[in-house]
Amino acid sequence: MKLSDLTLTTPYVSLDPIFYHEVAPTPLKNPKLISTNPHALELLGVDFSEINEEEVEKLLNGTFMLKGSRPYAMCYAGHQFGYYVQRLGDGRAINLGSVNGWNLQLKGSGITRYSRQGDGRAVLRSSIREYLMSEAMHALGIPTSRALAIIGSEERVARERWESGAIVLRLAPSWIRFGSFEYFFHTNKHKELETLADFLLRESFPHLVGVENPYLKMYSEIVKRTAELMAQWQSVGFNHGVMNTDNMSAIGITIDYGPFAFMDTFESGYICNHTDTAGRYSYDNQPRIGYWNLERLAHALSPLITQEKLKHELDQYGEYFTTKLMELLRAKLGLDSEHENDSDLLRNLFTVMENGRIDMSPFFRTLSRYNGDRSQLLPLTLAPNQLNEWLDRYDERLQSNTSSLEERHTQMLRTNPKYVLKNYILQEAIDEAEKGNFTLVNDLLILAQNPYDEHNNFERYAGITPQQHTNLKLSCSS
Ligand code: AMP
Ligand code: MG
Repeated sequence: MKLSDLTLTTPYVSLDPIFYHEVAPTPLKNPKLISTNPHALELLGVDFSEINEEEVEKLLNGTFMLKGSRPYAMCYAGHQFGYYVQRLGDGRAINLGSVNGWNLQLKGSGITRYSRQGDGRAVLRSSIREYLMSEAMHALGIPTSRALAIIGSEERVARERWESGAIVLRLAPSWIRFGSFEYFFHTNKHKELETLADFLLRESFPHLVGVENPYLKMYSEIVKRTAELMAQWQSVGFNHGVMNTDNMSAIGITIDYGPFAFMDTFESGYICNHTDTAGRYSYDNQPRIGYWNLERLAHALSPLITQEKLKHELDQYGEYFTTKLMELLRAKLGLDSEHENDSDLLRNLFTVMENGRIDMSPFFRTLSRYNGDRSQLLPLTLAPNQLNEWLDRYDERLQSNTSSLEERHTQMLRTNPKYVLKNYILQEAIDEAEKGNFTLVNDLLILAQNPYDEHNNFERYAGITPQQHTNLKLSCSS
């Protein structure tokens, strides 16, 4: 199918206009297509081979509308850094409609009713980051929004310096956030709150339509999905950076990529967002914040379900989180069964990684070929004695494995990526793109989508992060 054959539907605009603002995108000056993602096109049923680049560019710039499209921005509130803010909403995102269960959204496409003081724009730097990282997360098996294409432009956008405006076309099964519910709860609009819950049920939890206590069951699934998402972030060393409730997806996927980072050397208190001086959204706080945010959602849903019942569901959070984390970490270590001392072995590994300033991704990748010979592993730590002791324990633990060494290696090489898009790698692609060269963006898309494969030309990105680039902090302003 061709892009122009798609027909979108817009169920959200059949709701009362209090839920959204119908607004057309504002085109950027002299747009230029940077990259199109064949995998995302496939999700919509469109053939990459039938793509007309000019059409993609115009679609992103808002000058070509797909059939059935009725652009709108969504209204939501949220707790930002712990404080409630009533009026947020899509200040720079415009939804086009949905097809095949995917809601298409332009990010950076101009002001809406919810823009407040903002300019409705996104800069090239942050757009490249979101475009590549959402695809990288997906390839790692982490639930996330996706990205279909990206355009740059000659539009000047004021941030800490002048930058150029860009737009990403991103996709999600739902763009409803915890903050969407908070908006209606805090304005005492309980009828609308129920309408939103019904909408989300139909859109993303259709198996719960018509069952007994659907809202409670939906909340319970959101608790589970969020807990498991936190476990996935933790297991790969991902720091989101801005876990405000308006950035928390009601379907438990990673959304709103901002100052995120894959950690370079492991640091439990790592904070990727330099405006987060208190470390509210540091790496080790993420699971706790996930819980705190779910409490806010429970509060917002309290007119529909009693607090007691919600609390009961929320109480499962820790169990969901730990179970998932253990499953993921066992897989990273190639352990094919459960053992009562596993949590201690794993906790110890994190201490060893922190004390030895170990870079997680090359470490786990090297460990994926471990056969008792430690010569490749020991140079990866500043505290080799501690790693040696831990490897003694690991050797002993491996004896209870039933799989063969080859099977373990194969499984671990499929679990521990060779390529992780750390910030310094993304920055190289951004520096090139700012000079007008988009080759590296497109190369990194392939790396992001195939992180377990060998890519001989990009061996340099598989090793430890060069010292001067480790654990950089980024700002929210994007
Ligand atoms: P974020 O932290 O990027 O998720 O954004 C928080 C809120 O600020 C959301 O309501 C965004 O739509 C809004 N926002 C962020 N940047 C801009 C911008 N440049 N123009 C308008 N609204 C913005
Ligand atoms: Mg946001």
